Amino acid sequence: MPPASGIYVDGEWVESSTGETTGVEDPATGETVGEIHVASASDAERAIEAAVGAQAEWAATPGPERGAILRRTGELLAERKDGVAETLTREEGKTLAEASGEVQRAVDIFHYYGEKAREIGGTVKAASSSEKRLRTEKEPLGTVSLITPWNYPIAIPAWKLAPALATGNTAVLKPATVAPGPSRAIVECLAEAGLPAGVANYVTGSGSELGPVLTEHEDVDGVSFTGSTVVGTGVYQSAAADMKRVQCEMGGKNPTVVAPSADFEAAVEAVGAGAFGVTGQACTACSRAVVHEDVYDEFVSAVADYAESLTVGSGLDDVDMGPHVTADELESTLEYVDIARDEGATLVTGGGRPSDDDAAAGHFVEPTVFADVESDMRIAREEVFGPVLAVIEVSDLDEAIAVANDVEFGLSASIFTQDLSETHAFTDRVEAGVAKVNEKTTGLELHVPFGGYKGSSTNTYREQGDAAIDFFTSTKTVYLN
Ligand code: NAD
Repeated sequence: MPPASGIYVDGEWVESSTGETTGVEDPATGETVGEIHVASASDAERAIEAAVGAQAEWAATPGPERGAILRRTGELLAERKDGVAETLTREEGKTLAEASGEVQRAVDIFHYYGEKAREIGGTVKAASSSEKRLRTEKEPLGTVSLITPWNYPIAIPAWKLAPALATGNTAVLKPATVAPGPSRAIVECLAEAGLPAGVANYVTGSGSELGPVLTEHEDVDGVSFTGSTVVGTGVYQSAAADMKRVQCEMGGKNPTVVAPSADFEAAVEAVGAGAFGVTGQACTACSRAVVHEDVYDEFVSAVADYAESLTVGSGLDDVDMGPHVTADELESTLEYVDIARDEGATLVTGGGRPSDDDAAAGHFVEPTVFADVESDMRIAREEVFGPVLAVIEVSDLDEAIAVANDVEFGLSASIFTQDLSETHAFTDRVEAGVAKVNEKTTGLELHVPFGGYKGSSTNTYREQGDAAIDFFTSTKTVYLN
């Protein structure tokens, strides 16, 4: 087992002040595969102080120089890609192919914002007199706290850290206790790429211990959080109390509408991939298929066949779907299976643990499909965060859009149709930050805004692309007379 990972404060890997460590579990085997230090509130304070101390110099570092460090970080991460992907699979459980794709996404993000750092500037505007000049400038917020979940343990830290640093902020990153290894690799690569001490700091430990410091500290200027709606709601309230810039990206209950004109096989493939990819543990996972009555029976049967065709096992083996990340997450999914049954939904396939003896030690669950789901059932309204698909029958597009919108979330939504007027109606009326036509709900391009409506997001600023630059900067308007 590797030695316990320290925390990274002011350019040094150090032990936390508690002296405590906690194990990192392989969800496929139950074995302990690593340890992390449990940081205290005072460790988080030290990390913030280090970030504050480094901020002026980093902000004064020219954008192209900051960008060169980010691009070098991307190169170093690319060199370590296979090892980091394996760590990701061992700690979080997704398949090696999925993990490898995620590490590549982090590499691409560092290259993207490495280039962007050259362009961060402002605008020149026409003034009311020829003696005057008007321009806007973008300035870093200052010191930011970045709080991330376990389900994309390298892509999400990357899509927060890279734009934060590109724009001249200093940061404290707190990843989830589960699967901390991939984000540690980012910090190691940043250090090796020459990032000055204090610019990026890294603390691991309990969210309830570290969260209040990271979200309430008077020297923190911005908070970017991704995680559950329940935790995000508290983060928003804490951070907004003294007017910090704050964004919280949270859960989803993402629908795919299947119209009678849809390319049927493409729709089944997209719903299956969206529902069962990464074991359904994606904020954008397709958890509801909203299907027209003309193709409903055929769809239920085809998507059940899709689910049954998937092999489940350790992500290190050649399988289609890995385990749940923890025993708690597995238990929660199995509880939702019971709830759906009790509500009267029809279990079409799955719903239990694989019978294979090898699977007993891991947190495996079968890909699961429920039919005859009504929009008011809990299985149709609450985020399961597991490989469970609810299929809902509708009789026309108006009803489909009403069902799609009838949840407290609004992250990603898609429709399969060959009818142009239906695509317009759907993209105009669906309440979601991401609306897709003839594509699965999962999968994002890194350079366009990402975020949600309603309970999925604070809906203030978006992440990714230029939207992230906007979040991490303040605009100053300069009048020159
Ligand atoms: P979580 O809310 O339990 O934890 C997220 C992070 O918050 C962790 O680092 C955790 O330690 C920390 N935290 C816990 N208590 C805190 C507190 N009181 N103050 C501050 N931080 C605290 O979420 P999770 O289980 O790690 O992740 C799964 C959730 O994340 C799902 O709901 C999923 O939909 C959501 N998610 C959303 C997006 C998105 O972009 N919208 C992306 C990925 C995951």
